Amino acid sequence: MTKSVSLFNTLTRKKEEFLPLKAGHVGLYTCGPTVYHYAHIGNLRTYLFEDILVRTLKRAGFEVNHVMNITDVGHLVSDGDHGEDKMEEGARRTGKSIWEIADYYTKVFFSDLGKLNVLKPQIIPKATDHVKEMIELVQSLEERGFTYNTNDGVYFNTEKFPTYKNFAKIVVENLEEGKRVSMGEKKSATDFALWKFSPENEKRQMEWPSPWGKGFPGWHIECSAMAMKYLGQTFDIHCGGIDHIPVHHTNEIAQSEAATGKRFVNYWMHGEFLLEDSGKMSKSKGEFLTLSVLERDGFDPLDYRFLLLQAHYRSSLKFSYEALSAAKSGRETLVQKLREWKDEPDLNLSEIKATNIWVEKFEKAIFDDLNTAEALSILFSLVKDNTLLPKEKKAIALSFDDVLGIRLKEKITEQEAEIPENILSLVAKRDEARKAKDWAESDRLRIELQSLGFTVKDSPTGTKVSK
Ligand code: AMP
Ligand code: ZN
Repeated sequence: MTKSVSLFNTLTRKKEEFLPLKAGHVGLYTCGPTVYHYAHIGNLRTYLFEDILVRTLKRAGFEVNHVMNITDVGHLVSDGDHGEDKMEEGARRTGKSIWEIADYYTKVFFSDLGKLNVLKPQIIPKATDHVKEMIELVQSLEERGFTYNTNDGVYFNTEKFPTYKNFAKIVVENLEEGKRVSMGEKKSATDFALWKFSPENEKRQMEWPSPWGKGFPGWHIECSAMAMKYLGQTFDIHCGGIDHIPVHHTNEIAQSEAATGKRFVNYWMHGEFLLEDSGKMSKSKGEFLTLSVLERDGFDPLDYRFLLLQAHYRSSLKFSYEALSAAKSGRETLVQKLREWKDEPDLNLSEIKATNIWVEKFEKAIFDDLNTAEALSILFSLVKDNTLLPKEKKAIALSFDDVLGIRLKEKITEQEAEIPENILSLVAKRDEARKAKDWAESDRLRIELQSLGFTVKDSPTGTKVSK
């Protein structure tokens, strides 16, 4: 049995109860990174929102099949059909081959996600491994009369797909803006490349033979081909950042539905942007904010996760170091409180009378379109509730962390790891003395440890030390 979850669907611009195609299962596709550079912390906000979605659906009892692609070809600098391929640009910038930078930035990307405690998707297809599927999809669009060729590629004819603009309804004006940019041989500003021909005068590092000659796939067709391969022609949920509504996702819908004649996705979800003081985050401005920069500046990646949890994913959020510092002290206060209870016995939730009240409150918030800010404040109220025993609060708090993902369990027991070497060696000596029943030496060492600011507690498994 699954619990009821309501999600804001961009398709209808409404919160709706989530009803999967197959009871108890969710097919989820999230647009992955273009691996030409490091992810900035804005990009990471989108992946974190998707992680909260996955964890929430699991909490509600669903089995989630999560597919996230790696874009390693075809995403052009302009996000449209002109300009250099971001991967070629990345290779030029670093002096490495495309394959090397794809490999390098993919590794860093997953290391960042790991640090943020984002769960790894089940399937992570690379665009370059699916060119055959992309060519087949373009062929089927061609057979159905949805394409035309220009001198630089095979294009999707949006005039042939009358509902093209429905998805992006509120931002149709933005689409019209495209008319001011160079159209090349395109018939309409909204038409987009499915397959690009390799330029005659320049050798690309990545190109493939196709029925239309040597070339490479367009960025949009990649996601349609990989999503449908792994999740079927119609699947449950597709996510991305808000910027994908007017172009990338609009194009994915058009080409997928034109090829299959079926609804592509039932629920579309989009995360709002993280902004900087100067406005939009960009990778072209020299140094930009990455997770490593935050770490260098003394923050734990989970401070950033905590900061993001305090805002709703559908509200834009302005990043500042002040806000990050406040998140850091909020997280540390919480961890400190729970750490006081770390030696309390681990209870089974069913042993606690008040469990249901707290779990209901928490789930009401999180199942209401992922209200993480409310869920966090419920966690803080729980910790302050003096009608409960510490061991009860600890057990309930740790169960909330399945969704929040701030590693509470590890953080409250982590203290041992932060104890300096010289202290650990005194503790080991004291254990030896106790084993040898040398109580005078053991007492002397306890006093020495105390004078260094550490308290010791004897337990059946040895000396426990804390600051
Ligand atoms: P990209 O690697 O550029 O394709 O972007 C990866 C993901 O990050 C996409 O889902 C974008 O929508 C999202 N994104 C880009 N900029 C931001 C931002 N400033 N805040 C939140 N998400 C963003
Ligand atoms: Zn995509």
